[in-house]
Amino acid sequence: MNIVLLGPPGSGKGTQADLLAKRYQLVHISTGDILRQAMNARTALGIQAEAQIKAGQLVSDDIVSGLVGERLRTPAMQGGGFLFDGYPRNGNQVYQFDAILAKQQLALSHVISLEVSEQTLLQRLLGRRTCDGCGRTVNINLQQAGNKQSCQVCGGELIQRVDDDEAIVQKRLSVYQSETRPVLNIYGERGLLHTVCGDGKVDEVFQHLVSLLSDVL
Ligand code: ADP
Repeated sequence: MNIVLLGPPGSGKGTQADLLAKRYQLVHISTGDILRQAMNARTALGIQAEAQIKAGQLVSDDIVSGLVGERLRTPAMQGGGFLFDGYPRNGNQVYQFDAILAKQQLALSHVISLEVSEQTLLQRLLGRRTCDGCGRTVNINLQQAGNKQSCQVCGGELIQRVDDDEAIVQKRLSVYQSETRPVLNIYGERGLLHTVCGDGKVDEVFQHLVSLLSDVL
């Protein structure tokens, strides 16, 4: 099973991708995570990508597709299925991905779009924090009470992602509409696209995804 999971920022792609990867033993590849790791490690590529990430814009197609091609050539990818989260993100990346897959004699089995209302996306993104101690992601807007600067589990500091600032979030949402929506049309025309409602609790959304995959397997 080779899956592409798409959805606007805040739709829960990363969370659902982790769960799906475990359930179906897929290699989870998140271009956002790869780029953030490179940025935090201050590699040449990370430094190059940083300005675009911090502005809420897409990193250049050649950089991202280059990274994807590299990942798909690693031995860990041989024989098993994969799940891409956040790639391809515009029409050009779809065609670059087509070429990469063809070279490796691979094909996509499902493209899934998580659909979430804009109000929910904003609430999730603006309240999202990650604990620098245990790595947990929390939403401070959903926390009942207490200190919103530290983790209620380990006491670590809650950190906001650099691109979760309000102005940048608006930019990311508009880039999604203008650049990534066309990707859904392309896969829709190819008969690969499935849409799943991403509003609701994590396990509810996961159940929708699992039942979709068992229906179309
Ligand atoms: P989100 O989907 O919530 O914006 P991601 O972690 O997927 O979060 O991406 C964060 C940022 O990384 C994006 O705003 C963009 O700058 C960059 N990025 C991730 N994937 C891609 C991609 N396929 N093409 C270009 N830029 C990307």
